[in-house]
Amino acid sequence: MARTQPSPLVHDLQAALGIEAVLFEPEDLLPYEFDSSIDRSAPDVVVLPRTTEEVAAAARIAEEHHVPVVPRGSGTGFAGGAVAVMGGLLVVLTRMNAIREIDAANRLAVVEPGVINLDLQDALSSFGLLYAPDPSSQRICTIGGNVGTNSGGPHTLAHGSTVNHVLGLEVVLPGGSVVNLGSRQVDAPGIDLRGLFVGSEGTLGIVTAITVRLIRENEAIRTMLAIFSTVDEASNAVSEVIRRRVVPMAMEMLDQETIRVVEPRVNAGYPLDAGAVLLMEVEGLVEAVDQDSEIVIEACKSQGARDIRIARTAEEREALWEGRKSAIGALGHTAPALYLLDGVVPRSRLPEVLHQVLGLSREYGFKCANMFHAGDGNLHPTVLFDPEEEGATERVLQLGGEIMKLCVDAGGSITGEHGIGTEKREYMDWIFSEADLEAMSSVRLAFDPTGRFNPCKILPTGHGCAQGHFEPIKRKLGPGIYV
Ligand SMILES: Cc1cc2nc3c(=O)[nH]c(=O)nc-3n(C[C@H](O)[C@H](O)[C@H](O)COP(=O)(O)OP(=O)(O)OC[C@H]3O[C@@H](n4cnc5c(N)ncnc54)[C@H](O)[C@@H]3O)c2cc1C
Repeated sequence: MARTQPSPLVHDLQAALGIEAVLFEPEDLLPYEFDSSIDRSAPDVVVLPRTTEEVAAAARIAEEHHVPVVPRGSGTGFAGGAVAVMGGLLVVLTRMNAIREIDAANRLAVVEPGVINLDLQDALSSFGLLYAPDPSSQRICTIGGNVGTNSGGPHTLAHGSTVNHVLGLEVVLPGGSVVNLGSRQVDAPGIDLRGLFVGSEGTLGIVTAITVRLIRENEAIRTMLAIFSTVDEASNAVSEVIRRRVVPMAMEMLDQETIRVVEPRVNAGYPLDAGAVLLMEVEGLVEAVDQDSEIVIEACKSQGARDIRIARTAEEREALWEGRKSAIGALGHTAPALYLLDGVVPRSRLPEVLHQVLGLSREYGFKCANMFHAGDGNLHPTVLFDPEEEGATERVLQLGGEIMKLCVDAGGSITGEHGIGTEKREYMDWIFSEADLEAMSSVRLAFDPTGRFNPCKILPTGHGCAQGHFEPIKRKLGPGIYV
């Protein structure tokens, strides 16, 4: 097969990072065309740096060649954030995967961005410590990607999302300078640029090291599965538990569609005839766990729970969680493609919005499964479809837009944890005013005056590329504004 001639950009990158750290043959770029969203677009070049200096060199070279720069972790994001929609340079951080330090006395760790979330959790277990953010993708996603999207997870309900657990960041800015934001203490002096960078989806810079806050493992944990005949009962139970002043560490709901797919594959212990199950966890001192569990059980019974099972061993707990954490993968076996949405509604409106979501999906002719962080009101309707079917992708995206509108109209939001990416940038003006968006745009341009870092993400102004999902993305290389 004829080999591609290295472009001047490739040549300069090879000189700075070494030949094996630079990919540019079309077949080598294929795995980097997509993340877990529907968007697809090939970068021109991929680099796999090993050090902050190499990331800085790549950013400088991209600036000299006037090409877009897109940071990427494992590519598990659902919003298209790691897709190089305008081509250019994709900086893949997975080789920067060292846990540089665990400081148990001061309850912090310093990690490189390519560290897999679960690898950090495993490394901490012998210290009796935890890094609280635990996305369901924790076996594969990176801490850098978690920072990029401000990831949540089942335990966000009690502990908050990634932003609450990041103390400091080392960042390569557009142009290649390296800055340190935040500190090793909770209360860093100065303007909180650390907070600004968490959730900025790679539009302000590339994170090359992260100082994270650690928490102590709790003395006792009780994991419970409440079984309901309907989604309404389960949703009402979520509000009832919190109304009784207990905030469990986690409250995850799986509906019937999901249970029927997951249980035969995982043997988690979810009854196949349940309308919905709530997977809940309370943690703390032994006495408090006993007391809180009683309140949770009573609250669930009061809303019609027909059974409540308590995990008696670590293996039983593991099995209950395995069902939840494998749900998306299991659903992936039942249809050629999934479109997983991420919206938020006030907890009290869960039953009504879930009915509307299922009704809309039926109108569009799609099956829709639901498994989500119910305690946060963070919905993940998962629409099953076949992209080969004429018009199916367009219809599924249209349905996604309508579901997001339902969430906003119910007083919620267009994302709980997956970010905006390309997927939802056109919905941003449903929740932000022109002045709000202008303020975000000014901040972005202050760090990146040409908008070269992760163009066409988050902000809806979109002058540099096509609007929405249906028009082909127009490439705009060379100097200019990409936001
Ligand atoms: C099965 C499954 C379950 C999931 N469950 C959850 C869940 O419970 N909670 C949740 O929040 N998400 C979940 N996700 C979504 C996804 O895993 C998270 O958004 C995760 O944080 C993405 O990490 P990543 O390494 O794959 O990042 P990528 O997808 O590679 O990138 C995500 C974004 O971060 C930016 N980015 C990546 N690395 C850097 C860096 N070093 N510096 C600056 N920007 C960077 C990218 O440009 C992009 O905008 C799930 C995904 C799957 C497939």
